[in-house]
Amino acid sequence: MTELLYLPDDDGRTEFTATVTAATAEYLVLDGTYFYPEGGGQPPDHGTLSWDGGRVQVTDVRKNHGDVRHYGEVDGDVPEPGTAVEGAVDPDRREQLRRMHTAQHVVSRVVLDEYGATTAGNQIHPDRSRIDFEPASFDAADLERIERLSNEAIERDHRVQKATRPRDEVEVEVDEGRALLDLIPDSVDPLRVVEVEAFDLCPCGGTHVDRLGEVGRLEIVDRTSKGADVERIEFVLEP
Ligand SMILES: [Zn+2]
Repeated sequence: MTELLYLPDDDGRTEFTATVTAATAEYLVLDGTYFYPEGGGQPPDHGTLSWDGGRVQVTDVRKNHGDVRHYGEVDGDVPEPGTAVEGAVDPDRREQLRRMHTAQHVVSRVVLDEYGATTAGNQIHPDRSRIDFEPASFDAADLERIERLSNEAIERDHRVQKATRPRDEVEVEVDEGRALLDLIPDSVDPLRVVEVEAFDLCPCGGTHVDRLGEVGRLEIVDRTSKGADVERIEFVLEP
């Protein structure tokens, strides 16, 4: 098992040391990691792992039965289990993904509050992200309104708190339509939650900023219909 060291609230950290528990020419497994493995609509962190005699440029990170596999071409000798490694997550990519994922929570909250639509899916990217809403049908004025209300929330600079909480508490606190709790197996307890103070609460395992102001200005750049009741919004963030 690889411990996810960035949970529940250490997702600002990018440098760490860990111990190899398994390794092949394709991937390394560590006892603990700050690399985010792809999941929940968020792509993996990139970066490097280095040790005495070798190094790997990490280009993909995936969960596998409780382990986290750091994929990349090993330069040097494949390390033995027990080898100490220095981990360095690409800080720019991490920061961009944190800002994007928190921005997604803001837009999802605004759309739920204003239009009663649930987030049916989302895909975060460092440069451009998308959210699918259901049921929804937005016109140009709606998009302007969603963008304006999202930016107003970001400007209020609410604190973003991340914590692990008992599932039964979370089920009571999460607003109807904000999270697809039914899709999270009952065995997942406690749950990691991301709370934007006085604004939003949602179970989520992703990496997030600590204050909304860090997101910066958001711009909605596209809208497409994905079926009768599903509307996709795409957005970017100003650098
Ligand atoms: Zn999330």
